[in-house]
Amino acid sequence: MALSEFALIQRFFSACGTRRADVALGVGDDCAILCVPPGMELAATLDTLVEGVHFFPSVAAGALGHKSLAVNLSDLAAMGAEPAWVTLALTLPRADARWLQAFSDGFCALARAAGVALVGGDTTRGPLSISVQAQGFVPCGQAWKRAGARPGDGIFVSGTLGDAALALAAANSDLATDDAEFLRQRLEWPQPRNALGIALRGMASSAIDISDGLLADLGHILRASHVGAQVELARLPCSAALAAHLRRSGDWRLPLGGGDDYELCFTVAPEHEAALRAAAERLACPVTRIGHISAHLGLRLRAPDGSDYAVGETGWDHFA
Ligand code: ADP
Ligand code: MG
Repeated sequence: MALSEFALIQRFFSACGTRRADVALGVGDDCAILCVPPGMELAATLDTLVEGVHFFPSVAAGALGHKSLAVNLSDLAAMGAEPAWVTLALTLPRADARWLQAFSDGFCALARAAGVALVGGDTTRGPLSISVQAQGFVPCGQAWKRAGARPGDGIFVSGTLGDAALALAAANSDLATDDAEFLRQRLEWPQPRNALGIALRGMASSAIDISDGLLADLGHILRASHVGAQVELARLPCSAALAAHLRRSGDWRLPLGGGDDYELCFTVAPEHEAALRAAAERLACPVTRIGHISAHLGLRLRAPDGSDYAVGETGWDHFA
């Protein structure tokens, strides 16, 4: 039986995520009514996933539900904001209850894990497209900006780089890999670094999440901060799967230019480095110092043999 728009919203999205006392009114009225705690600013972000652009039509609905929320939580992480509320705009070719169940299972499981409430949205018919807006709290005046990096700051990244891009390369070229399942998880079920983002408050001078590739995203920090950087390729944190690829190909484009990792790249002044390492240990979140900020503009990459490494890859631009 076909589902009506309102039955669909009621069944799959009316009680999704965590119940929060700061939601005075959630799904069901013209607006949600939300209470920002005193002393906090609201950080707001929105990301859209379009079929054929951001994901293959074959991707499982549960993974899409997860990822559409994860990429937004990752933006909150990059600003040190604590996730609170999300809204969801869903454009669907048809109201398929099995697809919707799997999608909402993936979406709502991550919402519960992250402590966020789904408080509203919009549901329309058309080519499959998913927009999520996420909102979180950051203490007044404490959010860092991309513009905060200073010469001498260390450049750090969380987790490992290039796995999602290798998953795509493997899917496109049928490249044989024992690590296919690990890579697919990294591409389709990214884990946003919200605990790390909050721990970086008072430590990071700038941060960004790596959605378009390390070079592109670090490049945003450098341009906004009017500084340059030196990065050591030998220090880029790589999974076993990516390390094997690097040994086979000697091609650094995946960890440097590959997008969709949703790790954090951030800068920390030397006096905060010990506190950063202690926090990362407490959270069991690997962080790696890959280089440093310099006053000299531009990005210098040093190959493992000490030579300069030239790269043309700049990351993903939808309109390039
Ligand atoms: P309106 O026409 O007043 O914009 P809608 O009919 O679009 O309201 O939506 C009814 C209610 O359901 C609203 O509270 C809206 O926020 C919520 N809603 C609609 N679609 C979704 C969705 N995909 N997820 C969560 N809430 C939704
Ligand atoms: Mg509406």
